[in-house]
Amino acid sequence: MKAWVLYGAGDLRLEDRAVPKPGAGEALVRVKAAGVCGSDIPRVFETGARAGSLIPGHEFSGVVEEAPGELSAWAGKRVSAFPLIPCMRCDSCLRGLYETCSSYGYIGSRRDGAFAEYVVVPAWNLVELPEGMTFAAAAMLEPAAVALHATRRLDLAEAKSVAVFGAGPVGLLIALWARLRGAERVFVVGTKPAQGNMAGKLGFSDFCDANAEDAIDLISKLTDDAGADACVDAAGTVRSVSDCIRAARAGGQIVLVGNPRADMRLEKDVYWRILRKQLKIFGSWNAGFRSEEASDWTETPAAAQSGALPLEALITHRFALADLARAMDMMRLRQTYFCKVIIE
Ligand SMILES: [Zn+2]
Ligand SMILES: [Zn+2]
Repeated sequence: MKAWVLYGAGDLRLEDRAVPKPGAGEALVRVKAAGVCGSDIPRVFETGARAGSLIPGHEFSGVVEEAPGELSAWAGKRVSAFPLIPCMRCDSCLRGLYETCSSYGYIGSRRDGAFAEYVVVPAWNLVELPEGMTFAAAAMLEPAAVALHATRRLDLAEAKSVAVFGAGPVGLLIALWARLRGAERVFVVGTKPAQGNMAGKLGFSDFCDANAEDAIDLISKLTDDAGADACVDAAGTVRSVSDCIRAARAGGQIVLVGNPRADMRLEKDVYWRILRKQLKIFGSWNAGFRSEEASDWTETPAAAQSGALPLEALITHRFALADLARAMDMMRLRQTYFCKVIIE
């Protein structure tokens, strides 16, 4: 099979590899679509593989090609997958909170992922696609479930106005979920005008380009000087987190979900506001998944299937597998606007 193999920082090679063999409890999936995550860019260009070599790619969909033994019912099914492989033994796992597992495996960062023609996936992690869902949309179930999980950290009965800082795919998905789940006003704060066009296309007219206008002033004006009931950081920068703290009303909620790229140091004046405004700050990591019960990974396909969550509207670029390196360069250099980038 063709596979993109990461050997070290900046060393990603397209190679011919043997099709992997599924082990006990695993299925072989023929990959139909894979999303390039923002986190893949530092993984490929800065940190490299954790050990030896790695095929990245953790957002994907495809068809089960081989499901040995008792898993044979999976054969031929259209699937996506929860990429986190829990240890099933730690305190979090025993409580069913797999996303906070203390020693997990991960498809696409700790074991081979989906930037290849085939990927091996534990059957426990598979999610069958609803009828009619495209593979491209299905490759976005992972970031959409992560966004839902972050949105669930908010008490939306208390938060009528929500400001999302960060207008990449996860930020926009959080904005969509916040609206779907009852927020009356959703403000999206980005850093370039093209993000405002995408936000507008998704129905968010309250967009602020933080490089052109002051987001705090604008949110304050739009909320009668109170500030937003809830702020979500989906950018992971000192500036975006500080802005969340500044833009939240007294007693407001903050959810932090953006991956930081460097140390996060807060100015004293910003830190004071957490205390003086008695803010509630929550972290959010990955998404909730249960193999049998309702979870972020059941609600997300259902919302996409019903049309309530327009996943494909976020796709700005589609590349063939052979062009993955070109897609990654585009995302690294940031010269052209992109939202979701899908490899097909
Ligand atoms: Zn991701
Ligand atoms: Zn665990």
